[in-house]
Amino acid sequence: MLDVKKIRLILELRESGIADSNILSALEKIPREKFIPENFRNQAYDNIALPIGDNQTISQPFVVAKMTQLLEVNSKHKILEIGTGSGYQSAVLSKLVRRVYTIERIKSLLIKAENVFKELKISNIVPKHADGNLGWKEQIPFDRIIITAATPFLSKEIESQIHEGGIIVSPMIKKNKQVIVKYKKTNNVLKSEIYDDVLFVPNLSGTE
Ligand code: SAH
Repeated sequence: MLDVKKIRLILELRESGIADSNILSALEKIPREKFIPENFRNQAYDNIALPIGDNQTISQPFVVAKMTQLLEVNSKHKILEIGTGSGYQSAVLSKLVRRVYTIERIKSLLIKAENVFKELKISNIVPKHADGNLGWKEQIPFDRIIITAATPFLSKEIESQIHEGGIIVSPMIKKNKQVIVKYKKTNNVLKSEIYDDVLFVPNLSGTE
């Protein structure tokens, strides 16, 4: 049953403009049900966000696919993700890039995500419990940065830890709504482009 729903979801994503077959096949390979609490597993391939505990959510598959597509990743890239959450977005990226460094501020969520990475034998994700807005300076520079919690502005650390020519994708809060913004660093300046309206949990500082 889940398999039928998965195929239907992949087709739906393609119809909604996810044209990159590598991304569609990464979404097909990663079992989303593993990142979801048991009582919601029958909805794993519905195109919706779902609760994962601690008042947080696993993103909607379309948003995961769209943000991944905007990142323009390749197999040589070293990526930073802020907001591991369930670990699903990291797992999708792990199939497309060399290494994913991912930071989560809520320890219990990070431990759950790490267990799923182990179960799925994913070995190119490096997780850390910290405030992601501080970035990960021991690993700079990053080819790509993805932020999966909504914020009114990028931190100075994040702006400085992206490579020249690199791309940052983040939900940004603008006039009481949220939009996906893609930033590209050219001649040390970040130029932005605005995409879809979204609804993410807030980006908070500190850890718990
Ligand atoms: N990428 C996730 C989406 C999770 S929701 C997934 O695929 O499931 C966003 C997550 O960002 C939450 O778990 C929240 O705790 C975390 N978060 C919010 N602000 C953060 C910060 N400053 N640093 C690290 N994690 C943060």
